[in-house]
Amino acid sequence: MSSPHRQPAYRLVSRASHPEYAGGGTRRVRVGDVTFGEGAVKVAAGPCAVESREQTLAAARAAKAAGADLLRGGAYKTRTSPYDFQGLGEAALEILAEARAETGLPVVTEVIDPRHVERVAAVADMLQVGTRNMHNTPLLTEAGASGKPVLLKRGWASTLREWLCAAEYVAAAGRGDVVLCERGIRLDPRAAHASPTLDYEAIRLLRGETALPVLLDPSHGTEDASRVALACELGVAAGVDGLLIEVLPPGWPADRIRCDAHQSVTPEVLSAIVKKVKGPES
Ligand code: PEP
Ligand code: MN
Repeated sequence: MSSPHRQPAYRLVSRASHPEYAGGGTRRVRVGDVTFGEGAVKVAAGPCAVESREQTLAAARAAKAAGADLLRGGAYKTRTSPYDFQGLGEAALEILAEARAETGLPVVTEVIDPRHVERVAAVADMLQVGTRNMHNTPLLTEAGASGKPVLLKRGWASTLREWLCAAEYVAAAGRGDVVLCERGIRLDPRAAHASPTLDYEAIRLLRGETALPVLLDPSHGTEDASRVALACELGVAAGVDGLLIEVLPPGWPADRIRCDAHQSVTPEVLSAIVKKVKGPES
């Protein structure tokens, strides 16, 4: 992807510039006591958004019981409509810290504004940069400089080169602990409801270009809870290092949830997914 006449667009995250990964292999990225890239598939699960203490603790306990390795959940959200729930902000960070203390699961949560990086990094074990912010270069730089590992979603209309350049911004500002996450792309934005298409082929192509771990988000990638389990299996078959899955609290009907209930699986489905991707011993 780079031209011999120009400075390579991404050097730090390129497999070609790391002789230690020339023959293959994946960079290990540690998040708390979890290591992405060491072989076993890691699962981050939790609510789309932290909506209340009760909902988050219940979903976090369910994630833990299902065998997830990390807790996901948004304190700050970038919603498409300004009238949708935007997250509880700082109050949600406290709830996430409580959920981690109780379950022991490291927390991955999104940061949407460079001015919030310090306060989110004070709680998060891993910062998430979402699809809408993949091109937000000041945010990428601040997130990289935070010292925390960064989960970088693919922009939903981004080329692999643009995605890797975004990872380069993060790496250039910090230690290079970046994990990429495919979350579905838009093939037909003119459709009335343009649901995303998971680009499984991108996972193989990325492997050639970079040694960074690669995750799959089957929840935003399908927007349909009934399709999440199969997407997880296809992602694992394509070689992902991990999955990012939205889950409902046990026994909660979808209409008690304000954010992305339609694509959140039940704890029972999450347990079945974890067993399938990690084996029955998990
Ligand atoms: C999320 O994971 O909470 C999220 C908002 O995802 P995306 O940025 O992929 O839409
Ligand atoms: Mn969501």
